[in-house]
Amino acid sequence: MAKQGNRSSVIGITSTIPVEIVFAAGLRPVDLNNVFINSSEPERLISQAESAGFSHNICAWIKGIYSTVINHDVKKVIAVTGGDCSNTIALAEILARRGVEIIPFDYPLDRDGDFLRAQIERLSISLSTSWSDVRAARLRLKRIRDKLRELDRLTFIDNVVTGFENHLFLVSSSDFRSDPEVYESDLDEFLIEVGEREPKKDEIRLGYLGVPPIFGDLYEYIESLGGRVVFNEVQRQFSIPYDNEDIVEDYLDYTYPYDAEGRIEDIKRAIKERGLDGLIHYTQTFCFRQLYDIILRENLPIPILTLEGDRPGRIDSRTGIRIEAFLEMLDDRSYNV
Ligand code: SF4
Repeated sequence: MAKQGNRSSVIGITSTIPVEIVFAAGLRPVDLNNVFINSSEPERLISQAESAGFSHNICAWIKGIYSTVINHDVKKVIAVTGGDCSNTIALAEILARRGVEIIPFDYPLDRDGDFLRAQIERLSISLSTSWSDVRAARLRLKRIRDKLRELDRLTFIDNVVTGFENHLFLVSSSDFRSDPEVYESDLDEFLIEVGEREPKKDEIRLGYLGVPPIFGDLYEYIESLGGRVVFNEVQRQFSIPYDNEDIVEDYLDYTYPYDAEGRIEDIKRAIKERGLDGLIHYTQTFCFRQLYDIILRENLPIPILTLEGDRPGRIDSRTGIRIEAFLEMLDDRSYNV
């Protein structure tokens, strides 16, 4: 797990939440998804949850979160019980019965600002912090969020950042690896380093849609075939890349917890702005979000390849062949236009 300091200051999160509140309270947020997938043996964590009774047809991320909380003796978890995943509701109950203190956080499905403000206030009260401290934490994190926007720009305009590097920084902005100072310093170093690189050329430009991949080598594989992901949809959303006046607006603009319309607008903008040739929609086995594939296909104007992943590890040969065929098809189209 990320550097922990005082264990009682660690608070697990099951998905992106207004993390400003956690830092304002002097606590250390830990995104349990990232700890699970970056562990040395994520497959073992899944087996552990299955031995504890989680059935085969429950998504691997839920099992990974469960085992991570148990193994790291996480005492307190903020569970996103609205706007993320219905499995989290039952997972939170199981964890509560194992002695974990659960603090629920709900995003309103109808994007109601008053409801979201009330949720943010409720979380602030639960963590004994004030609006003025939250505002100060927001300003502090905004500086880092702006640097992440620069990293993203360097990915799709200057073409000096790989899809995987972009993914890694953006996906870990849900908790800033529990330590914004260290995170910012790593980011500063990275931004200096990429300034020296030669731009990448003549690639097939891809957008990656959906929850982060459970495959460890997806980006590497795509790049080995001449493609590059220049838009990581949900990971970018985790970084809250907006200029707003307050935290409620920030998390109303965050597209992931709400209906598909906001996502579609965001993706369409990226298709134009980033010159995308095609989209890869990653879906997780046993995840209800797979159904969004229908809506995305009906509403997005460029070719989409839908992939499905189940357990952690390298991409399987069938998935590899499908990616290869998709990239060949996009390559042929680019010659024919
Ligand atoms: S991948 Fe889907 S089912 Fe699994 S935790 Fe995420 S939202 Fe839930």
